[in-house]
Amino acid sequence: MSGIIKILPEHIANQIAAGEVVTRPASAVKELLENAIDAGATEIQLYIEDAGKTLIHVIDNGTGMGEEDAKTAFIPHATSKITNADDLQHISTMGFRGEALASIASVAQIELKTRRDDDELGTQIEIDGGNIKSTQPIATPKGTNISVKNIYFNTPARRKFLLSDDAEFRYIEDTFTKISLAHPEVSFSLYKNNCNILFLPIETQYARIIKIFGNNFQQRLVRIDENLSDVSIHGYICKPGYVTKRRNKQYLFVNKRIIKHAGLNYAIESAFTGLIPEKNYPIYCIFIGIDTSAIDVNIHPSKTEIRFNNEKLVYGTLQAVVKHSIGIHQLSPSLDFNTFQLPHKYSNSSDFSKTSSDFREAYLRSVSEIHRTEMDILQKDIESLQSELPLHEPQLGSPMKEDDNVFQIVQSYIAAPLSSGFLLLDQHAASERILFDEYCAKKKSSEKTPSRRLLFPQSITVSSSQVETLKDIQPDLEFLGWDFSWIGDNSFMINAMPENAARDGEEDAQKIIEDILDVYVQRLMSGGHDMSGRDKVAAAMAKRSAVKYGEKLHKEEMLSIIARIFSSAEPHISPSGQKTFRIISPHELSQLLLS
Ligand code: ADP
Ligand code: MG
Repeated sequence: MSGIIKILPEHIANQIAAGEVVTRPASAVKELLENAIDAGATEIQLYIEDAGKTLIHVIDNGTGMGEEDAKTAFIPHATSKITNADDLQHISTMGFRGEALASIASVAQIELKTRRDDDELGTQIEIDGGNIKSTQPIATPKGTNISVKNIYFNTPARRKFLLSDDAEFRYIEDTFTKISLAHPEVSFSLYKNNCNILFLPIETQYARIIKIFGNNFQQRLVRIDENLSDVSIHGYICKPGYVTKRRNKQYLFVNKRIIKHAGLNYAIESAFTGLIPEKNYPIYCIFIGIDTSAIDVNIHPSKTEIRFNNEKLVYGTLQAVVKHSIGIHQLSPSLDFNTFQLPHKYSNSSDFSKTSSDFREAYLRSVSEIHRTEMDILQKDIESLQSELPLHEPQLGSPMKEDDNVFQIVQSYIAAPLSSGFLLLDQHAASERILFDEYCAKKKSSEKTPSRRLLFPQSITVSSSQVETLKDIQPDLEFLGWDFSWIGDNSFMINAMPENAARDGEEDAQKIIEDILDVYVQRLMSGGHDMSGRDKVAAAMAKRSAVKYGEKLHKEEMLSIIARIFSSAEPHISPSGQKTFRIISPHELSQLLLS
């Protein structure tokens, strides 16, 4: 009796193999686009009909193929990209397995037109379910033009499992996005049922990312750029304020190949630990460059999985580089904001030893006669403080314990040692930013600022030029928590003021209003086209109500200021244009001590 084991006919074997490579129309799209890239194309057009179920058509201007190669290309394991086993250690092309065209051809009807630059005539080949139907010379532009029609026409079981057109098209778009992100040196067009839905010209990496992510990402991304001897990492990550609740827009490429890698994804996400809420995820598009001999891409037919010879090195470098980038953009100190207790109000300190007599000015004058930038001066300050005090010790006389990680310098700056350096924050500028943001948030929600009715309403008198201004901005001031009425001459009666208008328990409404008017008028005169009228009033109020220089702060107030400034959308600068904080890296600190 003869045995029961038979060798499968080639076409069935190919259909089985196709099950791994061509799992859905989008996987055929991936293989065809990768072939065009490998052929050195600079222009690729993708036409999709009925979510790829009727037609996937790719036109490229790459090298093209001669007649012989065009026929061989559809034979299983036919590839021009490797010749021996050693080559598997150095794969620099997207393809190398030589099975994509054979697999696609076994489950579809193919029409291929291709021509090399030096050939006068090109070749046209028609294939049906893996069998060559016709071959003929044809006049065709340089490059390759391949149509994959009626995919799975001969494997109905597979066709039945396809999802709706919408869902399958989404997969195709996703594939197109990933490949085009990695190749800004190539122009891409995408046509859906003959309608051009996306055109990407040859452009810079950044421009390509913004095209794909959307213009609003211009403010949201931070650049990563690191070239080490073993590995290079570049790309973009979102600032901590722009993470999302879904893991979308997370693109990781190794040598321009999109990969799935839970470990590396974790390395990136963990660099954000403590800076973003739980169950939020960063958006990123990161390119890792690594020697082809240091990785193995031949572990899965779809070539989206990869093994690193030294995974720890890549993991560690990636995590450090992402952390570093967040750090140098001064987006966040390495403080763990989650552990901060946020008091409801930080600004109601009655323990107010000095008035706003200009501590800061005096201090700055005392350290420098020569004209230097403020930042230079700050650096010198740190230098001298360092020689006096170990960093972790609180200022003399401050109400803090030894283990506190935040302290005040000359009652004007808040300082905190960070694991990535040293945070120096201007208490007045930062507080101004926080209050201004609070007012703007109120404006957005049309919620009035809480006000405090005065036990004894105060009458105030302002100059005649101020009367007009005050009348002008009365509605804005009322929205921001003031309540007053004009009582004739140049006088007003103040019935209520915003809860946090007075810094030091002072009740002098006259002084507060005068200060607000002064700042508002200054702002008006200096142009200030960037702000609406109400915002100018809010900015003036924020300046007036902000923590002052020379004001002693409790630890809770300092922590609150730090936490709140870093939840601002514009933490770096106060509404009056003053820098609010700076992070000094360990490197800069060491330079300071050396200079
Ligand atoms: P692989 O890409 O793994 O080599 P494929 O089955 O995708 O295998 O392609 C087989 C061969 O056909 C390629 O090695 C290449 O030489 C040739 N080829 C495929 N597509 C193109 C194209 N668009 N332009 C030029 N040559 C191509
Ligand atoms: Mg290929």
